[in-house]
Amino acid sequence: MKYETVIGLEVHAQLQTNSKIFCRCETKFGEEPNTRTCPVCIGMPGVLPVLNRKAVEFTIKTGLATHCTITPYSRFARKNYFYPDLPKGYQISQYELPLCEHGYVEIMSDGNLKRIGLTRIHLEEDAGKNLHQSGGTSLVDLNRAGTPLMEIVSEPDISSSEEASEYLKKLRSILRYIEVSDADMEKGNFRCDANVSIRPAGSAEFGTRTEIKNVNSFKFVQKALEYEVRRQAQLLDEGKPVIQETRLFDSDKGITFSMRSKEEAHDYRYFPEPDLVPVMISKDEIKAIQKTIPELPDNKRARFVKEYAIPEYDADMLTQSRALAAFFEETVKICGQPKVVSNWIMGELTRLLNAENKEIEDCPIRPDQLAGLVTLIDKGVISTKIAKTVFEDMYTSGKDAETVVQEKGLVQVSDAGAIETMIDEVILANAGQAKEYRAGKEKLFGFFVGQVMKASKGKANPDMVNQLLKKKLSG
Ligand code: ADP
Ligand code: MG
Ligand code: ZN
Repeated sequence: MKYETVIGLEVHAQLQTNSKIFCRCETKFGEEPNTRTCPVCIGMPGVLPVLNRKAVEFTIKTGLATHCTITPYSRFARKNYFYPDLPKGYQISQYELPLCEHGYVEIMSDGNLKRIGLTRIHLEEDAGKNLHQSGGTSLVDLNRAGTPLMEIVSEPDISSSEEASEYLKKLRSILRYIEVSDADMEKGNFRCDANVSIRPAGSAEFGTRTEIKNVNSFKFVQKALEYEVRRQAQLLDEGKPVIQETRLFDSDKGITFSMRSKEEAHDYRYFPEPDLVPVMISKDEIKAIQKTIPELPDNKRARFVKEYAIPEYDADMLTQSRALAAFFEETVKICGQPKVVSNWIMGELTRLLNAENKEIEDCPIRPDQLAGLVTLIDKGVISTKIAKTVFEDMYTSGKDAETVVQEKGLVQVSDAGAIETMIDEVILANAGQAKEYRAGKEKLFGFFVGQVMKASKGKANPDMVNQLLKKKLSG
């Protein structure tokens, strides 16, 4: 049986406000446990929450950046449940009236643009953290309690684990562009619950879904979804039902396992939060927030395709972060040749950065230096092949391309006489092969190119070598 995959993601993103959502405590991460707390965020009786304006603005900014409708009248609710990291016994969240609704995010899927709908974005407070000690005791750190959190809920529009990964990357990229969240999954300020079901291809109804909770890296989300799709397909193949439940991912074993079934699910007894007035947003406020939104990845991508005539794929990669896009544009401004620059950034530069787990912000090569290298290739001073060595050298030494080329004597040999001499020597030394080539074994040509390049220590101008070799070998 062929199945279709249906995925919907719920993302929790911590907002990078200075203070918490309902009190003035600092939101700083990694401090001594319970030093960033006050009576409000540790849930003392009788205290009153005061809403952080910045948290509301950041959520609206996110809604606008993802084409949502901003609800002019929204409200907070109490979500009741008992857990040691939630001292009040309820979480202040939004329920039937979220701040943002009906948006979408665009992703690349199989080379095409695809829209993933957003059901809603709402604002809530984060809980504290339980620290489980060996020996069966647990400690509670309430520094995180009350940190503003956005919950971004997608429609079940995602059709594969790859799309899920693309969606998360795009969402992270948008949050970073508009500077509302670090959106760092490893640090726990961007967390994802993945809902997944399968159905017979072409069927109109959704299958029963499972929800995978708290997966902490992009790679693991994809792995967990792949596993879950396989598991569900096997159940259906065997004529067994998929049970609606919450599952966890074991990254060591690469499997998901049941955490709780729907029957055990909480009844949160939501009701309107009586200590907070409803939030009213005016058109002018929305306009003012709209003005603070920079050019977003989707617009930038479209502009790059148009302005620089580079492929959609390149534009998508280059606009993943504002810093990367700026690096590209600055380089092209100096040396032109957008596609060549794009290749260098997406190829060698990304490779070297990834090897050290670095971001473009930490790149030891500046845009003007990359432009210098591209210009040297363009002028024929060095070959593309040599340029790769030069680039690595620039990366480790921080030197300009010209300096590296001078110091290492890497200038390309474009002197026809010098190349012809090398060719003559190579043909002489390989007289047998030359004879075979002339007798029709044309694939030996590559061998001769290789020999001449080797003789020149990679410095001979490859185009000239090709041309002159053809002439010499046929003569
Ligand atoms: P809950 O409140 O139980 O988490 P929601 O209706 O809010 O349920 O849905 C949560 C997420 O599950 C949404 O992202 C939605 O797109 C997704 N979803 C709903 N139904 C399905 C399904 N059959 N298969 C996959 N995902 C689904
Ligand atoms: Mg859910
Ligand atoms: Zn506090």
